[in-house]
Amino acid sequence: MPIKNIPIKIMPLKKLLLVGAGHAHIGLLRRLRGTPLINADITLISEQPQSIYSGMLPGWMAGHYILDDIRIDIAAQCKQAGVHFIQQPIVKIDAKSQRVMTADDYDHSYEVVSLNTGADTDMHWLNNADTNNADTNSVIAIRPLHSFVNQWSQVLATAQRSAHYQLAIIGAGAAAIELVMAAQVALQRIHPNHQVFLICGDVLLAGFNQKFRHRVIKQLNRLGIEVIYERAIAYQNGTLITERASLQQSFLMDAVIAATGVTGAAWTASTASTDIATVDNGFIAVNALQQSVSHNNVFAVGDVATRVDKDVAHSGVHAVHGGAVAADNLLTFMVDQNKPLQSYQPKNRTLYLLSCGDKYAIASWGSVSLQGRWVWYLKRYIDKRFVNAN
Ligand SMILES: Cc1cc2nc3c(=O)[nH]c(=O)nc-3n(C[C@H](O)[C@H](O)[C@H](O)COP(=O)(O)OP(=O)(O)OC[C@H]3O[C@@H](n4cnc5c(N)ncnc54)[C@H](O)[C@@H]3O)c2cc1C
Repeated sequence: MPIKNIPIKIMPLKKLLLVGAGHAHIGLLRRLRGTPLINADITLISEQPQSIYSGMLPGWMAGHYILDDIRIDIAAQCKQAGVHFIQQPIVKIDAKSQRVMTADDYDHSYEVVSLNTGADTDMHWLNNADTNNADTNSVIAIRPLHSFVNQWSQVLATAQRSAHYQLAIIGAGAAAIELVMAAQVALQRIHPNHQVFLICGDVLLAGFNQKFRHRVIKQLNRLGIEVIYERAIAYQNGTLITERASLQQSFLMDAVIAATGVTGAAWTASTASTDIATVDNGFIAVNALQQSVSHNNVFAVGDVATRVDKDVAHSGVHAVHGGAVAADNLLTFMVDQNKPLQSYQPKNRTLYLLSCGDKYAIASWGSVSLQGRWVWYLKRYIDKRFVNAN
């Protein structure tokens, strides 16, 4: 039978770019594996083929996990989801021409882009002292995590050759406390003379309830960690300078790790000039739909973004839950730009499980806090479920 001459309308594929392999995009890849998006050409650009899961990083430092236990294979997940994978750091987005530039000087065009690159460690505290030639490179930043894991291995190698190794961790949040406890367990395993210090400014764990804070301080004491309530201001030639009420002190330290909160990702500085709205040192400004307030085809979620309508902390919990809403919105927007999108409404209370270095953990949920080895096993169960989810 002759084929009728019916004109076939070929729909062009819509180009979706996913930038960064943070918590939200990992969730989206898992979804796409079950239900691929038809009529879409999806590419994920990330600087590493594997993402390290921050929640299990202290467990790896303390020796409870090997590196493979805490890594998620992004390249493999992309393949399973029918998503192209490009391993490159992005350096800039030009929202006017709808292009993302990568470090290898390539331009990647998009119709819709989703940003989930996380943030950088805030190093603004460094070099506040009146010192010349401060040794900025010798401070180990917790982010990016893939650099940190190499640097931590070097810390351990140096500590193996030393009879008295001193390490300072700067920070006052839950991440800094998990790191300090994991580091103390790891270093004392090498030599009982090795010592870890926590330099935390005036307040430890601001925003957490008093009971939880007391429990944490007890665990820091139990592990023999020295807590110094002063602000670190510089690190130079192996000397850490701190300050309290303008009174400076110095401490000899073999290494210093900064877990000093987050600041906007460096690439957003060049993006700001191309008019995507940012706030507070380079965070992408988003509304409750996780959509850029300046460009409706730009979505951003996790630590790279800041909500302009309400205070939402930069945390893994919100990257995951906000990410699920952002994924729904992205998929809806790809199909029909006029369809209504959902808002991400964070819960009033979030569960935080803080590991204490030696298979012990403390839980915080609103005003409730609990602790024990069972909390550590609960944390391990939740973390492994995230890393190994299909
Ligand atoms: C030790 C530690 C423990 C923590 N524990 C917890 C916890 O228990 N609970 C909790 O809620 N929060 C925790 N946090 C905070 C949590 O890690 C972050 O809030 C969370 O990782 C943010 O997730 P994200 O999806 O925004 O990005 P990230 O997880 O930071 O992922 C960003 C991704 O983007 C990639 N990328 C970065 N820059 C570029 C670029 N220029 N181009 C391309 N790709 C790029 C990175 O390689 C990475 O794959 C912890 C943090 C630390 C440091």
